[in-house]
Formats: sequence, structure tokens, C-alpha cells
Amino acid sequence: MSSINIISSSKIKVGYKLCLNSDSFQVFYPDGKGGQLGDRGFIAGVPIISVSADGSPILASDIAPGIHEYSIDMKRREDVACQHTAEHLIAGIAHREFALRNAGFRMSEEYSTIDLDGEGVSDEKVDAIEKIANRKIKEGLLVKDFSLPPEKVNELGELRKEVSEKVSGDVRIIEIEDTDLCACGGFHVDNLSKLQLLKVTHTERVKGKYLRVYFKAGQRAIDDYSLKNRITRGVCQALSCQNDEIEDRVNSLFENLNSMKTDLRALAMDFSELLAVKLENQAIEMDKTLLITYTDKRGEGEFLHKFIDMDKYTLLVEKNGIFSIFSNKISCKEFINRLRNSYEIKGGGSDSNGNIKGSISMNEIIENLKDF
Ligand SMILES: [Zn+2]
Repeated sequence: MSSINIISSSKIKVGYKLCLNSDSFQVFYPDGKGGQLGDRGFIAGVPIISVSADGSPILASDIAPGIHEYSIDMKRREDVACQHTAEHLIAGIAHREFALRNAGFRMSEEYSTIDLDGEGVSDEKVDAIEKIANRKIKEGLLVKDFSLPPEKVNELGELRKEVSEKVSGDVRIIEIEDTDLCACGGFHVDNLSKLQLLKVTHTERVKGKYLRVYFKAGQRAIDDYSLKNRITRGVCQALSCQNDEIEDRVNSLFENLNSMKTDLRALAMDFSELLAVKLENQAIEMDKTLLITYTDKRGEGEFLHKFIDMDKYTLLVEKNGIFSIFSNKISCKEFINRLRNSYEIKGGGSDSNGNIKGSISMNEIIENLKDF
């Protein structure tokens, strides 16, 4: 355990932000710096919930100023080092072998992303990058970490990206043997073999031109394999098939589902025709119209208006709290406008039909229709 000197603390929205003395302000790695996750751990037994950009830890509860012992979660740092080195590895291969640029890097608790930019960036190229990356991991290439005065940096050769203007004094260089040369201030492993495995989980197009590559390395990639294996085992069991049959089985299930939906729609249409006759016999007499009401549970109400004579009847159908009204005897539009004066509802329509949604019941609509 080491100790730090806390000058003061202040309450902020998410917890208590500590002000450290100048010897301690570089102890904790800030969240988001260089796209990397920040440190976690404990100060005086209280969990660190995040580290702000200036290196001030934010605690879950307050502690008194003074000297306190702290610990940093080193397992998390190892994981962060794996993901960060994997980023260098992907970016280095993308740059040297495919002339693609790393336009952005983000690391989260679950996955990391790198935005690749360049002509012809594609999933096929990402597949090839992943293959080369895993070969280099297997070869156990060294990851060198050293610092140089700025004037010596150029002697190294071309860096993958320019050194940030924010860097003052010596420049810290991270070099992956024969693969990448980049200035960086984050955490990295010292040998690619510590990455064990690099897996691209998926990609997506962003901002029109970048290909965002989601990836996991190290234990995260191995855990991800276990999770996916558990999921596919469950799916195979449910579908009574083998891994390589899942795609065909799911496609065939969707085909069946779509065909059943078509059949169900046809049946609902046929049923509506019969239902319309029954409902016409139960119509309620109003001043200007005969009213038919129906609560739709399975979609059959959607077709009722096709089979009811709207010159004689007004039809009111409710489905999931939304009312549809059809009539040639009254103006649906005017009726809905009238309801709007007395109820908190949304809706509208034409003279012959409309929709009503909001705080109103079937009975309240019927009552209002009586004297409309
Ligand atoms: Zn780095």
C-alpha cells in the first residue's frame, strides 16, 4: 500500500472529488485520456468511481483531508494495457499493410473501438488485419516502451501519427517490432504474447466514411468466446441442431413465421366478414347513426370497416388503447375535435375516419356520440 496527501474534497453530482497535493496528482490515470479507461481502486478503503481529466480521483463517499493509504486495481490496468496494445497492433497493421488511418479510438468496460479511414476500407480488410494481428501475437513480438528528446524522435523513422502538441519534454514512444511506431502515454503490455487473442466482434459504418471496428483482446476475448459458446449451445438445444445448422434453421423459422403471418391475415379477413354480420345485429341506436363497437385483440378489427356499411353504421374499434372511428353518417373529424375540447387526447382524421389516443374510455366516446 502506498499513501497520498489529500488537501480537500468537494461534493459533485456523482460523488466526492479529491484535491491532491502536487506530488500525488499523477498517481491515478484519468478516464478518457488517450481514449483509455481510467484507474480504479481504493483510497482509505473507499472505492474510486472515476478519475477526472486532471487526475483527481472521484470517490463514492467523502474522506477527511490528510495522508491516506491507497491501492490501484492492477488487474484492470493489465486489461487496459491489453486493449490499448491491441489498438496499436490493429492501427499499425492497418497503416503499414493497407494504408488505412486510425481516425479515433475509444475503450469501454465491455469493448474497444477503432475508426478506420481510407480508400477501400472493408470488412475483408479488417478480417485480414485480424489474421495478421493474431499471427504476430503468436510470434510474441516485443513491445518496446522508451522516451526520447523531441529532436531525436525523427531519427527513429516515420511515426504512425504526429506527436501531439500537448506533449512537453521527452516523448514516450511505443514500438511494436516490425509493426508500429507511435508516441503514446497510456498503458501497454511488453510482449504481444500477453494479448493471447485478438477478436474483432463486429464492424459498422459511421459518419459516412469510417469503418468502426469493435474488438476485444486478452482475457476479454477469451471470455467473449466462452459467452458466445454458451449462447450457441443454448440456441442449438432450443433448435435441436448443430452449430453449423443454426443459420439455416433460423432462416427457415423466419420463412415459416412470415407464411403464418400471411395465413393469419387471410383468416382475420375471412373472420371479419362473418363478425361484421353479427355486430350489425347488435348495433346501438343513436340520434344520427347506428353504432357498432368492437375491442380488437388479435388484429381482426383492422378489416371490419371493409365489411360494414358506413352509410348506415358508425364503427368504433379499440386496439391497445387506440380508437379508430369510421362513419359516413357523422363527421369523424368534427367529432374528434369536439372530444379534444373535453379530454386529454391526441388524434385526428378525415370526415370518414380518424384515430383517438389518450385519456378516454370506450364508454366516454359512446356517451359523447349519443348527442353528437
Ligand atoms: Zn498507446
